[in-house]
Amino acid sequence: MKYFFRIFGCAMNYADAERVASVLADLNFEPAENLEEADLVLLFTCSVRQKSEDKVFGELENFRKWKTLKAGRRIGLTGCMVRKTSCQNSEKKDIILHRGPALDFVWRIEDSKSLHQFLTDSSANWKLETGNFFFIQPKHSNPAQVCIPISTGCDNFCSYCIVPYARGKEVSRPTEEILSECENAVKNGASEITLLGQNVNSWQKQKGAFAKLLNQVAQISKLKRIRFISSHPKDFDESVINVMAANENIERHLHLPAQHGDDEILRKMNRNYTAAHYLQLVEKFRDQLPDASITTDFIVGFPGETDANFENLLKFYKKANFDFAYFAKYSPRPETPAASFENQVPEVIKKERFKKLNDLVVATTAKKYAALKDKTLEILVERCVKNICEGRSSESYLTKFEGNETLIGKMVKVKIIKPREVELWGEEI
Ligand code: SF4
Repeated sequence: MKYFFRIFGCAMNYADAERVASVLADLNFEPAENLEEADLVLLFTCSVRQKSEDKVFGELENFRKWKTLKAGRRIGLTGCMVRKTSCQNSEKKDIILHRGPALDFVWRIEDSKSLHQFLTDSSANWKLETGNFFFIQPKHSNPAQVCIPISTGCDNFCSYCIVPYARGKEVSRPTEEILSECENAVKNGASEITLLGQNVNSWQKQKGAFAKLLNQVAQISKLKRIRFISSHPKDFDESVINVMAANENIERHLHLPAQHGDDEILRKMNRNYTAAHYLQLVEKFRDQLPDASITTDFIVGFPGETDANFENLLKFYKKANFDFAYFAKYSPRPETPAASFENQVPEVIKKERFKKLNDLVVATTAKKYAALKDKTLEILVERCVKNICEGRSSESYLTKFEGNETLIGKMVKVKIIKPREVELWGEEI
């Protein structure tokens, strides 16, 4: 039997899929090369924006057709869109099963150990196997670059965010468990480990605990690069900056989602910090790591965002002098408080503001990238297509150069010859 994964959304879903792949291997399933040869399709979903959910339902339609072409084919779905592990025959079934009749079952990721029951028993008389989902040994798709979750869930309840409802309360994994998974990954050829959590800085709910863990991971012999996502500005502090400065194998990059640059909007978002606090963190970080990059996330058109609030976001961007930003128009998520806030911003204004921010981000990044011409970066090669390799430097600069597939998973020195707006082109030296 063969399976085919369709993964949407963030790194957490990719990491979850590697554990599910391991459960399937124990059930004698193998990965399919393509959809046609698969017997089972599993979708790992994201519900951060309406668009993400629409995409899932769009693709489900294609999978519905695929299912009709051969008897016995099955479709399952997990991730942030699922609230209740259930199937079409369950007494109480998840709402997605009503919206997607081609789905056979949906499951909360922590119930993955019971996958054999979902696959063989459509009566829904399941005895869910509880226990630590993280005890499942992942089957890494790229052993050179590995993501290791250090926590799951989130207690922050930002007013726009679905994650606390979808993934539940924040649970931290113990140190020994994380270190042992990191050590194993390195033994199996990992050059880069990314420590994952919705808010890594609140790991174990103790000030300084994440910095200590980061330092321990950095001591693992032969581990060339460590990354971590995501940080929260209310919890990120000097302890992490100090550990980064002391360990060269920790990325020269900080991804610190700001979400906005105006205090009134940050308060409505329930982010629990001010723009000034964020800018102080940026200053402290650059004092110790002047050559490192800083990237961020923003939401434009949050309910009640006025022209003045938006102008403050642009000013904030310039002050922080970010290397790059990921941003999206606000998308109301039905279970969250912000969805019922007054003064929802009309789509046309969201679009206008999105464009203005995009122009600023592209112009700022282009200027920064231009200054990298003739510099040499060490790139960990992630993929090569048609003799163009692509990977990131320690600063997370996306870099492309000519090469071949034998370079995937290797660290390669690349001289930047052609900086483009938001990517760098270079040549191997
Ligand atoms: S910190 Fe806020 S935005 Fe991030 S996952 Fe938690 S609730 Fe969502």
